[in-house]
Amino acid sequence: MGRKRFRVAVLGATGMVGQWLVHLLDRHPWFQVVALTGSDRSVGRPYGEACRWLLSAPMPPWAASMIVQPTEPGFEADLVLSALPSEIAREVEPRFAAAGYLVASNASAYRMASDVPLVMPDVNPDHLDLLSRQREIRGWSGALLTNPNCTTTAVVLPLKALMPYGVRRAHLVSLQALSGAGYPGVPALEIVDNILPYIAGEEEKLEREPRKLLGRLANGAVREADLALSAQTNRVPTLDGHLVCLSVELAERISPEAAMRAMAAYRPPEEVADLPSAVPQPIVVRTEPDRPQPRLDRMAGGGMSVVVGRVQPCPVFTLKFVALTHNTIRGAAGAALFNAEAALRWAGRV
Ligand code: NAP
Repeated sequence: MGRKRFRVAVLGATGMVGQWLVHLLDRHPWFQVVALTGSDRSVGRPYGEACRWLLSAPMPPWAASMIVQPTEPGFEADLVLSALPSEIAREVEPRFAAAGYLVASNASAYRMASDVPLVMPDVNPDHLDLLSRQREIRGWSGALLTNPNCTTTAVVLPLKALMPYGVRRAHLVSLQALSGAGYPGVPALEIVDNILPYIAGEEEKLEREPRKLLGRLANGAVREADLALSAQTNRVPTLDGHLVCLSVELAERISPEAAMRAMAAYRPPEEVADLPSAVPQPIVVRTEPDRPQPRLDRMAGGGMSVVVGRVQPCPVFTLKFVALTHNTIRGAAGAALFNAEAALRWAGRV
């Protein structure tokens, strides 16, 4: 497999997710960045000047000297990774797909569209087949696929591992880090010494997206999983790492030990297991009574593993546990990269 063989553009490269994409792309074996885009605020300026870099790893020198481009089709690229706000993505992403680019998007605009795959490659890689239907319907020479909302990733992997026991319904309470709100995000005066019990649109996404991800693709459409979810979402003053407390009802009453074994044994499907962003153990199970914790556990699997702990019997449903996801890696930039790799595999290009 050759090195750096696909040319990539990052849309919204100056934002929180865009920065993580630039950082992860610096080390990516297949992808070479050829364009970084932003809004009118940044266009024409060197990325190093336009971007308020917030990662502890330094900005790659090749990125610092690139001039930020307008967010319009026109660059010589094979792939587009989108970290645009949803309302901008809604208008711009179809134009890129129509112009022939493969677009892997973080934005929520098209996640629930019936012909757009909502994918986590280690959960539902078969849903990529929707891209054939998308081409028929939309007539695009390119394609558009999406990754889920960051918090959804913490929920879907454990539920996928428990599906053989018949997941019926779940109650979810999230504690979500500040980076999930992008930059500049929530004002310090609102979040220091505080918790905000409302994140616009988040509960709806958390109640809907897992049903599509865990659904079945048949005859060119996804039939959503028959699964009732009730979510309450909170913004808390951590930097990275969304923690979710779940109570889950299963058709079969299984012990916490059996559930932990099922989750720890969950492996990515063979067709995606060797992709650069795949991790051998998508769910890491901790048995200490006080784990997972965002600061200690968010970088498990390079930020691509979901960490589960506190698995206990639930007096109301069947089991309760806590799950942690690195929201800007597994929940955003790493997710889009993994999707782009899986889409190239699906298209027979790798
Ligand atoms: P952000 O920090 O606010 O960054 C937004 C980016 O979009 C910036 O690069 C900005 O460029 C660009 N942009 C804004 N308006 C634009 C316009 N009119 N035309 C072109 N570019 C424009 O947001 P973020 O947190 O990175 O999130 C990006 C997307 O990923 C959102 O759709 C979000 O919902 C989704 N997402 C975020 C997370 C997370 O954990 N943060 C997780 C999953 C999904 P300038 O800097 O030049 O203005």
